[in-house]
Amino acid sequence: MDIQNHLHGKAILTINAGSSSIKFSLFLVPQLNQIIVGQIDGIGGDASFKVKWSTKNTEETINWPNGCKPQNHREALSCLIEWLHQSVNAVEIIAVGHRVVHGGQKYTAPMIITDAVMQELETLMVLAPLHEPHNLAGIKAAQESFGNIPQIACFDTAFHRTHSFIDDCYAIPRYFYDKGVCRYGFHGLSYEYITDRLMHMFPKEASKKVIIAHLGNGASMTALHHGVSVASTMGFSSLDGLPMGTRCGEIDPGVLLYMMQHEGMDATAIANILYKESGLKGLSGGLSNDMRTLENSDCLEAKQAIEYYIKEVKREIGALTALMAGLDVLVFTGGIDENSVMIRARVLRDMSWVGIELDEESNLAGETIISDDHSRVLCLKLHTDEERVIARHTLELAKQEMALN
Ligand code: AMP
Repeated sequence: MDIQNHLHGKAILTINAGSSSIKFSLFLVPQLNQIIVGQIDGIGGDASFKVKWSTKNTEETINWPNGCKPQNHREALSCLIEWLHQSVNAVEIIAVGHRVVHGGQKYTAPMIITDAVMQELETLMVLAPLHEPHNLAGIKAAQESFGNIPQIACFDTAFHRTHSFIDDCYAIPRYFYDKGVCRYGFHGLSYEYITDRLMHMFPKEASKKVIIAHLGNGASMTALHHGVSVASTMGFSSLDGLPMGTRCGEIDPGVLLYMMQHEGMDATAIANILYKESGLKGLSGGLSNDMRTLENSDCLEAKQAIEYYIKEVKREIGALTALMAGLDVLVFTGGIDENSVMIRARVLRDMSWVGIELDEESNLAGETIISDDHSRVLCLKLHTDEERVIARHTLELAKQEMALN
């Protein structure tokens, strides 16, 4: 008999609903042992459903019931729930935690989702039109499927609500700030996880001047002092700062005016370019948004995309170091940082002026500490785990909710 049939007890389900995907994970309480991680991709098209059990190394592809591929998030979630019922039927899901990209200026901590919270989140859709509607669709689908169990929203922006006005405003007329046009910063759940790991692993260093570089398909960097975020490269939207897989990163707003006035492009066309056709993909001439493909390519455009990427990462390390007037710890996390020996090495070489001395061998071996003994700045490579942060908050708030009822 499979190990999964022995699993029993209560669990937290985490859901991260993107534009055409739902990532999910199941954690047994109270220890939060992660037993399943999985993903439904290509919702509305050629959808696939894959799961990985903590007890196995291989990924399993799940067949759709009656061969019917889900056409929307609700259908995808109901397939997921049906599969959970069948595969881990002795596990009772007691709460669902959702990743919500935008919490606006108001939400500085995870929240139990009530009708009132949901109404407010709907007003935030204009601030993150490419992410928030899918996050909310995931919540609605889960509410319909799970009935009355607590549903918790965990916001990517919440971690950065510690910034001062100066670190969050733009130099445009002030009434825009009052309407919510300011820097929000994203990837907060990842930063929270890494900050917590730092506190445990290097408690003395963790409260000093720290930069965390989260470089994955999306990419941003955050400066922390005393364990709280003081600045982030991402701003009003998830477009700003570093170039990403398909997003442009830092850009002169004049370019957008040019696209409108001289290329006749409307907002939809420009959004499509900036979010989906730019970054590594755009600069590599459409070759790929995946760093692995670019690293393996000999073409000039791929090499230039990588050069630009490294230049921007170095530039932001310099900028955030200047803002904090120093740097003590630099952490690399996210798919690119965690896996690419070359990117870590290229970013960290020639950074002695900041006090960074790379240990080439430790970097090559993929060790946690990748700076050498003489480096004034401690450089680390740490794996991030946003799902675990969601699970922790969800358990905490669900307990409070259950104690009240
Ligand atoms: P994430 O969004 O954090 O899951 O990161 C996904 C991205 O990590 C992919 O799109 C790749 O660009 C990058 N990545 C994953 N593995 C590697 C690798 N071995 N070398 C370089 N980049 C990688």
